[in-house]
Amino acid sequence: MTISIGDVLRSDGTEFDFSYRAPLVGEEFADLDTVGEADVELKLSAVDGCVRVRGKLKVTVRLVCDVCLEPYEQVMVLPFDEEFLPEPDKLDPDEIYTYANYRLSPDKMLRDLILLNWPMRCRCSEECAAPING
Ligand SMILES: [Zn+2]
Repeated sequence: MTISIGDVLRSDGTEFDFSYRAPLVGEEFADLDTVGEADVELKLSAVDGCVRVRGKLKVTVRLVCDVCLEPYEQVMVLPFDEEFLPEPDKLDPDEIYTYANYRLSPDKMLRDLILLNWPMRCRCSEECAAPING
């Protein structure tokens, strides 16, 4: 998904709402097992070319239970608040999010957000929370 941010860049300090519902597909999400469509709510505002992107991602992911080894689905609701800068020629392009040609793609940010919040321990239910010996 890319978002046209011409209006955002032309209106310093004004917040624009943008939301969409779509499956998370494409190379950014190739190794993440998401289910169905994700809800993405964005609020975009710019100051001197720096675009603040905040909002909320709601997505269902498919996990495997650590205890019974059965697959199950879990809804993740993840708030975010990030900044995007114009396409840089900086030393560390991977460390920041960028936009170019008045278009911004939140995909990498959303991928990072999901990875950052990916459960360390997967339990399909409370009842399945028996302690593991050893
Ligand atoms: Zn289980």
